Amino acid sequence: MSKLLDGAALAKELRQQCRQNADVLAARLGRKPGLDVILVGQDPASQVYVRHKVADCEEVGFRSRLHRLDEQLTQAQLMTLIRQLNEDSAVDGILVQLPLPAHIDSRAVIETIDPAKDVDGFHIHNAGALMTGAPLFRPCTPYGVMKLLEKAAVPIRGAEAVVVGASNIVGKPQALLLLQAGATVTICNSKTRDLAAHTRRADILVVAVGRARMIGGDMIKEGATVIDVGMNRDENGKLCGDVDFASASEKAAWITPVPGGVGPMTRAMLLVNTLEAAQRAAI
Ligand code: NAP
Repeated sequence: MSKLLDGAALAKELRQQCRQNADVLAARLGRKPGLDVILVGQDPASQVYVRHKVADCEEVGFRSRLHRLDEQLTQAQLMTLIRQLNEDSAVDGILVQLPLPAHIDSRAVIETIDPAKDVDGFHIHNAGALMTGAPLFRPCTPYGVMKLLEKAAVPIRGAEAVVVGASNIVGKPQALLLLQAGATVTICNSKTRDLAAHTRRADILVVAVGRARMIGGDMIKEGATVIDVGMNRDENGKLCGDVDFASASEKAAWITPVPGGVGPMTRAMLLVNTLEAAQRAAI
């Protein structure tokens, strides 16, 4: 039976650290670390996410501001707001909640954010710098996964790591972070032939696809560390991951639960990134 990689507990520790550091920084800066969150439109899932982000900031003593903007807003108007926030010295982090309405070019909008305030780590500057090894910010989900592995002292150097899913926000940056930490990395996507042949080789398996319970215990190596990034609803409407937890936990040495694994870490790493931005501003 596996041991749980408890993201909820580690996220709580990280929030406490953020709280302490925020107080010290506030005394030095003469203001609280600040995150501005931009929400365009009424997407229900996005509304929940931004509420959490704002509440998390308040819990740890950051200043947070939510900009709720009309669905019909033009791209130019959105960019104008971002440029104003770029210039505002009380703003350490800027986060544009995705997805944006179809008439807005998300890529162009993200590139408008000052890379030094890009706490999601999605700006091309930070994505490119991640490739060469020294980004200002790492995307929150893969960064949180690395913290979970570190906390459990999972050996990464020389390990066989397989990342299933190759998105710009999870799979690709995850693979780069594992590579930098010394793993031998394989990235799988929807065209991968014989997925199980890859997953069964993995000492560290990270799954970020968005298909309920697609990875069963039969696809996992005995003793592997299994990180389930997926967030899905099963046929009964229950939250579940991309990994079949019951069968996988018979094989894995370490496994993340869903909920309570990667999700809380993603939220906590946004705070860590915002704090890092404020610390740089204080130098
Ligand atoms: P995404 O942008 O839709 O990317 C999915 C990736 O999975 C793509 O690279 C796709 O391949 C690949 N894929 C699809 N079917 C596959 C298959 N049968 N075998 C192997 N790979 C396959 O998704 P995402 O934004 O990375 O999110 C993935 C999941 O993680 C979702 O459930 C999302 O809700 C969740 N998520 C959770 C958190 C968290 O904090 N817990 C954060 C972010 C995302 P192609 O490239 O070939 O299309």
